[in-house]
Amino acid sequence: MKNKKFCVANWKMNMNHDDSIEFLKRFRTYDLINNNTEIVICPSYTSLFSCMNFQGLPNVSWGAQDVSCKIDGSNTGEISIEMIENLGSSYVIVGHSERRASFNETNEHVAQKFINIYNSNLTPILCVGEEYEDRKNETFASTLKKQINSALSKISNFNKDIVLAYEPVWAIGSGASADIKTISETHALIKNIINKYTLKNCNIWLLYGGSVNEDNSSEIISLEDVDGFLIGGASLSPSKFYNIYRSMGGI
Ligand code: PEP
Repeated sequence: MKNKKFCVANWKMNMNHDDSIEFLKRFRTYDLINNNTEIVICPSYTSLFSCMNFQGLPNVSWGAQDVSCKIDGSNTGEISIEMIENLGSSYVIVGHSERRASFNETNEHVAQKFINIYNSNLTPILCVGEEYEDRKNETFASTLKKQINSALSKISNFNKDIVLAYEPVWAIGSGASADIKTISETHALIKNIINKYTLKNCNIWLLYGGSVNEDNSSEIISLEDVDGFLIGGASLSPSKFYNIYRSMGGI
C-alpha cells in the first residue's frame, strides 16, 4: 500500500560540519511526528556521521549525495558503498543532474553505481530529468526512458523498494518549479515507463525535484503520481524545509 511519502533534503556542497549541527538543533525543535512522510537528509560526507548521531530527530533517515562506482582499494578520494553502509546510513542519491553535467556521469556510469547500491543494504535515490532543449524539442520522453531503463534494466531480482526523483534540469535552482500540468503529465509518463519493473511488495517511489518551496509544495504533493520531494535550496533553511514537510500532510 503506497500511502507513504518522502521529503528528501539534498544539501549539496553547502553547510560545513558546524553549520549542519546548527541546522539540526533548530530542526529538532519542530514537531516531526508524521507517520506518512519519511524525512531523508543528505549532508556532505564530512557531516554525515555526526548528523546521524545527533539525538532527538524522530522520523529522520540519512543519505549520502553520491558514491564511488569502485568497490574498494586504491581509489584515492573516493567513498565506497561499504563505508556509507557501515555508518548505518539508508539512502544514496545517484545520477543527480549536477554530477551528470559537471562530472561527466553518463547513463552507463550512473547505471553501474545504481546497481551497486541496489545490491547493497542501501536504497538508491535515482535522479532523472531532461535539459531545457529536450523539453522544447519534445524529446524529453526518450531522454527519460533512456535514463530510467539504463539503470533499472540492471536489476535482475527486484526485491526491494527504490526511489526515483524526476528533476527537470531547467527547474533546478531556478526559483520556478515546473508547472503543475508538466509535473503531472511527466510523472504519469514515468509511471508508465517503470510499471514493467514493479513487482508485488516492491515499490518505486516517484519524487519531484526542482525549485520546490513553501509556496508550491501543497499543490504539487496533491498530484496523484507525486510521492514526495527532493529539495535543494529550500532544504538549507530549517523553517522552509519544515514547512514543506508540514505541507505534505499528517501533522
Ligand atoms: C536539486 O538540486 O536536487 C534540487 C531540487 O534543487 P532545488 O530545490 O534548489 O531546485
